[in-house]
Amino acid sequence: MKEHTIALLVMSSLLGGCGEPDYLSLSGPTMGTTFVIKARPASSINAEQLQQHVTQLLATINATMSTYDNNSELSRLNRNPSTEWIDASPELMLVLRAALEVSELSQGAFDVTVGPLVNVWGFGPNRQKDQIPSADEIAAAQQRIGYQQLRLRNNPPAVRKQRSDIYIDLSAIAKGHAVDEIGTLLERYEITDYLVDIGGELLAKGRNAQGENWRIAIEKPNSEERAIQRTVRISDRGMATSGNYRNFFELKGQRYSHIINPHSGWPIKHDLASVTVISSSAMQADALATMLLVLGADKGLQLAQEQQLAAFFIMIENNSFTEKSTAAFQPYLQASTK
Ligand code: AMP
Ligand code: MG
Repeated sequence: MKEHTIALLVMSSLLGGCGEPDYLSLSGPTMGTTFVIKARPASSINAEQLQQHVTQLLATINATMSTYDNNSELSRLNRNPSTEWIDASPELMLVLRAALEVSELSQGAFDVTVGPLVNVWGFGPNRQKDQIPSADEIAAAQQRIGYQQLRLRNNPPAVRKQRSDIYIDLSAIAKGHAVDEIGTLLERYEITDYLVDIGGELLAKGRNAQGENWRIAIEKPNSEERAIQRTVRISDRGMATSGNYRNFFELKGQRYSHIINPHSGWPIKHDLASVTVISSSAMQADALATMLLVLGADKGLQLAQEQQLAAFFIMIENNSFTEKSTAAFQPYLQASTK
């Protein structure tokens, strides 16, 4: 859903080493970035058909929840001024529910209604960067924000906005959801060993071509070069990294991140440069990684520990990187590389 995401897979494929004889590899553009799939094919697989199905699936997801598609279900919901119940598709409901839970967990540090602030800072669909909004513009956007203004109903599935001008932004979670959905599709093809990646949000199941758990790189949060900070081994897990170091603008030597603190109305500004979360699904990992990045190293680590999340933090201090991680993250870390 945005251009400069953290493409870990570029490096994870490098780590995969040569000779992945039987594994098929599919890729293509989506959500302002690239999807990459590696999978051990089931016996009678038609790779072309699978590629088509993946492309279709991604188109459907974008048509449901992308704010970059003016005609998507979510864009129509955002434009709808009604404060009555509005019917919503089960898929949109699933992602809204997950996003709302993370909003509640973080008391609005992650906020599913942050869209007006993202847009006013020029990081939304009509991106016009490199400008600090006026105090009035920030205040006006902030007034429209509050996950508490959003109600969800299961039967029949519907959404209710308590304020007519609520604008929902699912960019911090939709890529992860798309990754999970591709995983489900692969399983329908009876594929059990696979890695799916969309711009750094990924799902790893089963084993890689070497018969081992998948080996994934965590990038150094450096905007100038791509280098590896750590590697992890995962299987049957979702993983996501949120970073401060690719999508930003600079004015007078000051960086303005695309991650906005809804409480201040300003882009986050702290020494935490990236957060990686490993969780049961890519969608969860995606939302939680963004949430922890907004919270910053201290509050983020505290919440991650309380919630027993597997989280890994990289801070920039005096031009060098330091790390922190929760106890639940330790089993994934590879001893060999740093
Ligand atoms: P991610 O790359 O998953 O960390 O998501 C980043 C995107 O999330 C941004 O481009 C914004 O559209 C959106 N976003 C920014 N700040 C927040 C926030 N505080 N809560 C939820 N989403 C946010
Ligand atoms: Mg995210």
